[in-house]
Amino acid sequence: MSRLLPSLLALAVLLTFAPASTESRMRVLVIDGQNNHKWDITTPVLKHALESSGAFIVEVSTTPPKGADAAAWQAWNPKFTDYAVVVSNYNGELWPEKVRTALDAYVLAGGGFVAVHAANNSFPEWQEYNRMIGVGGWGGRDENSGPWLYVKDGKLFRDVSPGKGGAHGPQHEFVVEVVNADHPVTRGLPKRWLHTRDELYSRLRGPAENVEILAAAKSDLTAELEPSLMVIQHGKGRVFHTTLGHADYSMLCRGFYLTLQRGAEWAATGDVKLTAAVPADFPTADKTSPVLLEGHPKQVPPEPKK
Ligand code: ZN
Repeated sequence: MSRLLPSLLALAVLLTFAPASTESRMRVLVIDGQNNHKWDITTPVLKHALESSGAFIVEVSTTPPKGADAAAWQAWNPKFTDYAVVVSNYNGELWPEKVRTALDAYVLAGGGFVAVHAANNSFPEWQEYNRMIGVGGWGGRDENSGPWLYVKDGKLFRDVSPGKGGAHGPQHEFVVEVVNADHPVTRGLPKRWLHTRDELYSRLRGPAENVEILAAAKSDLTAELEPSLMVIQHGKGRVFHTTLGHADYSMLCRGFYLTLQRGAEWAATGDVKLTAAVPADFPTADKTSPVLLEGHPKQVPPEPKK
């Protein structure tokens, strides 16, 4: 006992003076840096969408720009394991192998991943990424990438007929329809809500393994219910995939905000508790609910084609 006492005292001193961690928010890493969309304008909206829930603290990791040399890429090495969930706002050059391997290992081991809109255009050649996101579009995707995924007779349908992967018509407001209301991400949401002006992605193709469609929107191009919100199990990890969010004005929508918050929480923890409350101003079937973000430079939507 006499020999144990000094170490117990030391422990007591340590516990007394160690800074107490009051940070209970989940750590999120948003990745951006290349995109055929204005990532520099949309990342602040993603950050606000997540942090305004009070459940998350967001850090951003920006990749080197397009055409950067190997040294710049060598220096970009995000530590995914420091975060509860990783959100991709990236659509660009293939990441170095060590980063690809690290992301895959992180998700397989139980890490959370969220793909936003054009993040599903990225990496057609990276097989494990495509398994992670379930389906994607463009970048040469076709029937060899996997089936076209949509909702038929209320159920997920894998269409193996040949064709290109990825299409959308002109931007417009459209109704998002809950297909599976018995999932933490969609529980308690209205069956249908009007989403703010956005691109309605269609004909997405990919391995489509362990994927579930939670919400979908009827495409004018295909006349099918195309996935808007999906969840994918990848190893022990969970992936939330939203095809919504073309521009800042598409994200500045109470429906986008809540589903992103819930999707990120579910990807991080497997449940939705902190972001479960449905705000009173959630959009309805015939009324959008824009979010006001003071001082944010809203993108100007293109003129409708005559
Ligand atoms: Zn887009």
